[in-house]
Amino acid sequence: MARYFINNKAQANGDHEVHKQGCTFMPADKTELGEHSNCYSAIIIAKDSYSRVNGCYFCSKECHSS
Ligand SMILES: [Zn+2]
Repeated sequence: MARYFINNKAQANGDHEVHKQGCTFMPADKTELGEHSNCYSAIIIAKDSYSRVNGCYFCSKECHSS
C-alpha cells in the first residue's frame, strides 16, 4: 500500500494529477487520498473532488493517460 495525493492546482491542460508518496514532483498544495494498493483506486477517490484527474507520468505512469 502507498499513500496517494491529488494536486489541488490543475495542470495547464486542466487535469489534476495524482501522485504517490515520495514522488519528486509532489505538489505543495495537495490533498491526501489515503492508502491504496495502486493508482486506479486513488483516482476514483480523486474524482469525487475533481472531474479531470490524471496519473502523474513519473510516479503513477500506469494511470497516466495524456
Ligand atoms: Zn508523481
